[in-house]
Amino acid sequence: MAGKRTLVDGGTVVLMDAEGTILDGGAVLIQGDRIAALLEPDAHRPADAQVIDATGRLVIPGLVNTHGHAAMSLLRGLADDLPLMTWLNNYILPAEAALVAPDFVYWGTLLSSAEMLKSGTTTFADMYYFRDQVAQATIDAGIRAVSGPIVIGCPAPDFPTPKASLAAAAAFMERYQDHPTLVPSVSAHALYTTPLPAVEAAFQLAKAHDAVFQIHTLEDPSENATAREATGMGVVEALDSIGVLRPGTVLAHGIYLSDEDMERIAAGGAGIAHNPQSNMKLGIPKAAPVTAALAAGIPVGLGTDGPASNNALDMFGAMDAAARIQKFHLGDPATLPAETIFRMATMGGAQALNLHDEIGSLEPGKRADIVLLDMQRPGLTPLYSVYSHLVYAVRGSDVDTVIVNGRIVVRDRRILTVDEGAVMEHARGFGDRVREVMDGFQ
Ligand SMILES: [Zn+2]
Repeated sequence: MAGKRTLVDGGTVVLMDAEGTILDGGAVLIQGDRIAALLEPDAHRPADAQVIDATGRLVIPGLVNTHGHAAMSLLRGLADDLPLMTWLNNYILPAEAALVAPDFVYWGTLLSSAEMLKSGTTTFADMYYFRDQVAQATIDAGIRAVSGPIVIGCPAPDFPTPKASLAAAAAFMERYQDHPTLVPSVSAHALYTTPLPAVEAAFQLAKAHDAVFQIHTLEDPSENATAREATGMGVVEALDSIGVLRPGTVLAHGIYLSDEDMERIAAGGAGIAHNPQSNMKLGIPKAAPVTAALAAGIPVGLGTDGPASNNALDMFGAMDAAARIQKFHLGDPATLPAETIFRMATMGGAQALNLHDEIGSLEPGKRADIVLLDMQRPGLTPLYSVYSHLVYAVRGSDVDTVIVNGRIVVRDRRILTVDEGAVMEHARGFGDRVREVMDGFQ
């Protein structure tokens, strides 16, 4: 492939290939938008490549955030410390109905994209309204995004009905079919908010475009009862009945999955997005059965969930929380060791999104989505185990350089693609509007 060559040289390169290779003092050769080669420490270096000195740095695959609602960064901290359904029905849904518009979504998504890039996320799956503004913001930021049309059974800020949303959706799917960073996806909010026929119509659109399908699944214990009333089936059985559980479908949360549900999911090939920080903050008294899901062969990725329910978008925090919640819940410090957690945040997420041939590891032929971490810091010195540090010690603020699709988007902790000051100025402006609207509710 044509394109300029860049060499990330001299760091400790964590490939996340099947063998778990680590090249101490190795190099990654990038050509255009893809990884051309991994070079051993003593291998010949091409003379014509632009060099990024990675001495003292960890070089890792870009992190994959498998679930979120990026534009909700403009609602972060608006309402916290509440049960899920109170938070959703009394605060978030009314605030969204009053405020969410194309410019709100564009700037909120741009703000979150900057936050995610600066903390090492190079791909995120998004579920939100105003698909065109989400897409444009992610393209402007230079982050890879899995995003697109959404259906929900109540009037949404962008479309009054699922039917109207889907009527306009095919054009979006076609427009971005071969886009280098915007991976088109279709979402249905959840079976408790959206009738099964509308979920099926959304899924069929995703299937027709061989696209990722996203749906919230069993975040709350009431969801099975609600589904049984409406369909005579539990949530996962209902989704199975319309063919949803195939590779490329991402079930967000999956906290209340039964063994039978996991058998169905494993047989179908769908993935799970695990969001431990959001789940814990909402006081959900149960950890998603991640250890069991992995044992069943289900692809499990990590997610932050939206910035209004987490409230951070730092995948290093998600990794740390995923390890701790599972060990705590099972009373077993050996469950989900650090390497397994880091794999979930990279290849696991790529597999859940059915993008494992393109991203998730540093291997020749894959997209050049690469993150450099500055390890010359008090909290990271000395270094005995790369994976232990990655999961338990590194924070998003240790990210130094980020490359997405072969393009340097963060360098020396500065984002190069967007004017961060201008984005925050817009965010403060939206904050004033949010305050006015919420004052009017009380
Ligand atoms: Zn969510």
